[in-house]
Amino acid sequence: MKKLFLLSSVSAMLFSCGTSQNQTATKNTKNATVTTYANSITSAELKEALYTYASDEFEGRNTGAPGQKKAVEYLKNHYVSLGIPSALPNNNYFQEVPLQTLKTPSIDLLVNGKSFTNIEDYVSVISSPDGTFDAKEIIYVGYGIDDEKFSSYANIDVKGKVVLFKAGEPKNSDGNYTVSGTNETSKWSNPRQEFVAKREVAEKKGAKAILFYNADTYNYVAKRFGGSHGRMSLVEDPKDLYYFLINTELAKTIHSTIATSDKTEPLNSTIEFNYQNASNTFTSENVVAIIKGSEKPEEYIVVSAHLDHEGIKEGEIYNGADDDGSGTVAMLEIAEAFQEAAKNGQGPKRSIVFLHVTGEEKGLLGSRYYTDVSPIFPLANTVADLNIDMIGRTDPKREKTNRNYLYLIGSDKLSTELHNISEEMNNKYCNIDLDYTFNADNDPNRFYYRSDHYNFAKNNIPVIFYFNGTHADYHKPSDTPDKIQYDLLENRTRLIFYTAWELANRENRITVDKAN
Ligand SMILES: [Zn+2]
Repeated sequence: MKKLFLLSSVSAMLFSCGTSQNQTATKNTKNATVTTYANSITSAELKEALYTYASDEFEGRNTGAPGQKKAVEYLKNHYVSLGIPSALPNNNYFQEVPLQTLKTPSIDLLVNGKSFTNIEDYVSVISSPDGTFDAKEIIYVGYGIDDEKFSSYANIDVKGKVVLFKAGEPKNSDGNYTVSGTNETSKWSNPRQEFVAKREVAEKKGAKAILFYNADTYNYVAKRFGGSHGRMSLVEDPKDLYYFLINTELAKTIHSTIATSDKTEPLNSTIEFNYQNASNTFTSENVVAIIKGSEKPEEYIVVSAHLDHEGIKEGEIYNGADDDGSGTVAMLEIAEAFQEAAKNGQGPKRSIVFLHVTGEEKGLLGSRYYTDVSPIFPLANTVADLNIDMIGRTDPKREKTNRNYLYLIGSDKLSTELHNISEEMNNKYCNIDLDYTFNADNDPNRFYYRSDHYNFAKNNIPVIFYFNGTHADYHKPSDTPDKIQYDLLENRTRLIFYTAWELANRENRITVDKAN
């Protein structure tokens, strides 16, 4: 313990993101600068907080579980003790997030008079209302795309109908994709977007039920979840819509030439089904605090990290020290630094929102609730989201090079200015080796879509995702606080603080020059 502490002090001096001197002396300093406050972020405080937050007492912080309730109380108490107010009118710091654990619904389904079996032949992938449904025809809409360049729905009305579409997207005679005009796929066949994009179109066109023939996704979902059994999701009002993934046999029963045809046409196939829902509902909490801006309080910089982790599995506690204890304690230190500045009359000009989200490990649920269902502050006034998810370790791939590195993802995707500010702050104060390996649009890991910032980015809010990469203890019970490199955690946290400070205090709000 002592050795680790000594090591961290020495390393901090080798880096250039400030020093680790005793910081209580900086309070009430008239000549305090941003560096004064950045230096209040110390490896010792990060370590102390993380040894509590990632301790066995919090039982791995599984969404909705008792250990997570302890975790949210801990976060709340931290803000109370710092004197940073709740961002919510109820003043208890908790944004209640209604969740459900889906169980496999009971379904009887007949196509052309033949019975097909739930899970074996199809899976229901959204929570739908109880009821019965029958139709004398099914509308085939090819790839199920509706885009400026190409629409499967051009000459057909699907209101109240059952639609069938398949995976993929059309190509031109030159071999390029029709939508992109290049050899790049679009959201219409990107595996992480297709599923929702095609559903949204059919829903907007008024379809009553959707049959999606996508053999790969069907196999994956049926095997992995056995339908939706055990999957956690937001409780949204059940959509007046049914959405089934179907296997090849069922697809061919409805439309024998589905593999080769993408022509939109009504089919003489009949369908009838009875659907009985099943789910358990409960609530979890996002923890949200705010330091109000002194000049532009209606403009918001969000700093986010997920508060949940995997919980206890087969008797083993998944402490999640790096994932995402590291991001969580980084946020607490950043909040403390801003609050010290505010007490000295140097509070941020724009508001800083500290958003600890739940349900990340279950599918970015808490952040999606915040952005899609109940934004506490208008998204249009949200300047940026700085999301921190795993910043306390070293990627084994990076061990042989400069360990003082950090992966940044998303910084240039919506706002060139954000990227430039981030680089500038790093060059001026921190000298971290910023690594953009995972920022590539074709990154096979698709990390850009895999943490909470994505829910902001999809709303054209500029984001930076701070990440150290995965390692042998990723999502294992061995992700424990003794393995965190606190000198790195300190330096990285300070960089995020400097960037947030600049975004909050610069004259003009950053511009979004690359909106989707
Ligand atoms: Zn995480």
